[in-house]
Amino acid sequence: MGCIADDFTGGTDLAVTLARGGMRTVQVIGVPEDAAALPDADAVVVALKSRTSAKSDAITQSMNSANALLDAGARQLFFKYCSTFDSTDAGNIGPVAEALLLRVGNAFTIACPAFPANARTVYQGHLFVGDQLLSESPLKDHPLTPMLDANLVRVLQRQTRLPIGLVPYTDVDHGPHAITRAFERVRAEGTRIGIVDALTERHLRDIGAAAADLPLITGGSGMALGLPDNFRRQGLLTTTDPVADFQAPKGRAAILAGSCSATTRAQIAAARTSGIPAFEVDPLALADGSLSVTHIAGWAATQDTAAPFLIYSSAAPDVIERVQAELGRDAAGALVEQTLANVAQALATQGVARLIVAGGETSGAVVGTLGIHALEIGPEIDPGVPWTRARGGLPLALALKSGNFGAPDFFIKAWELLP
Ligand code: ADP
Repeated sequence: MGCIADDFTGGTDLAVTLARGGMRTVQVIGVPEDAAALPDADAVVVALKSRTSAKSDAITQSMNSANALLDAGARQLFFKYCSTFDSTDAGNIGPVAEALLLRVGNAFTIACPAFPANARTVYQGHLFVGDQLLSESPLKDHPLTPMLDANLVRVLQRQTRLPIGLVPYTDVDHGPHAITRAFERVRAEGTRIGIVDALTERHLRDIGAAAADLPLITGGSGMALGLPDNFRRQGLLTTTDPVADFQAPKGRAAILAGSCSATTRAQIAAARTSGIPAFEVDPLALADGSLSVTHIAGWAATQDTAAPFLIYSSAAPDVIERVQAELGRDAAGALVEQTLANVAQALATQGVARLIVAGGETSGAVVGTLGIHALEIGPEIDPGVPWTRARGGLPLALALKSGNFGAPDFFIKAWELLP
């Protein structure tokens, strides 16, 4: 299966769902150069940054990714977007779906962002977040993609010339055969993209089964729940439990935290309380030259090689405010990100082979500096955060944690999952 995700953490979310379903899954970072640049796997997820980019750019990135995936032998394409359908009327979901549908030479695809585990459901084409319509939920105030209409038939119709229709709950609730017939019915009526109602995971699995022969599927990560079974039924999956087969390189263990979220700060406090040695990076000391990557790496080199240690810049809002007042917000962020990324590189040469990075932007900087192109998906530490093995660069097991993710003991328990 060849997947294209419109942002990085969304890509990981999808990759974890497929790995849990028994597919050997690799997440590729950015548009692959060609098919030869893609790893051998049951599912490849190309993670783009195209959600809010210019329409033409989103189409080009997605099409180049699709071409590489199809050339590499993908039998089915999956276009993944957010379960809250994040896009504007000028948004990219419609145009990208349209281009991909043309590319696979097919008349019909579906769109289903439902993710019941996170309380996103679709009923009569309307997207609900919990008990609220999307347009009455906090997503109406999203800074980049405010969602002011919950009717996805209308929303998607404003983004594309292809006729949009609805595959309603009354069909979906009757299982895969009824859903297949409904696909045929709406298609005969002229629909090219069917918004599919889904209220439960059973619905999503049944929709997945009915979509086995569609060359293109679009949706949230929940839409992928039923897809591994389609490949399994065809005898196409190579292992029974890819996560159990996951091999982490052996070496020292470290945590780098650049996220200042309350969740990450609580995880740091718990790690320190449990005795994990910690080094606090002060951005003002970095700026005046009294602290450097060499100092930080020097501290790391003196730590016990058999236990994890922590390096963090994470701070409370009042501290960040002072730093930002002095250095400027963007300059402070960039300085800390690049410092932590350079520390990661120094640690890798010190034999660190298992690394947790906390913070979305921080993770991006680390992955970029280490020259990592792809991540093989391993066991999930907490929902949405798996251990991965890096491809490209030095041997490294990596857990990239978005700031708000994970339980308080994340930094303590994560290591137990690595043999
Ligand atoms: P999250 O996933 O929580 O949003 P990110 O890594 O994406 O975390 O963003 C955190 C940002 O805050 C980064 O740009 C990081 O460099 C910056 N930052 C980290 N520590 C500090 C600090 N002490 N002062 C100012 N900015 C900081």
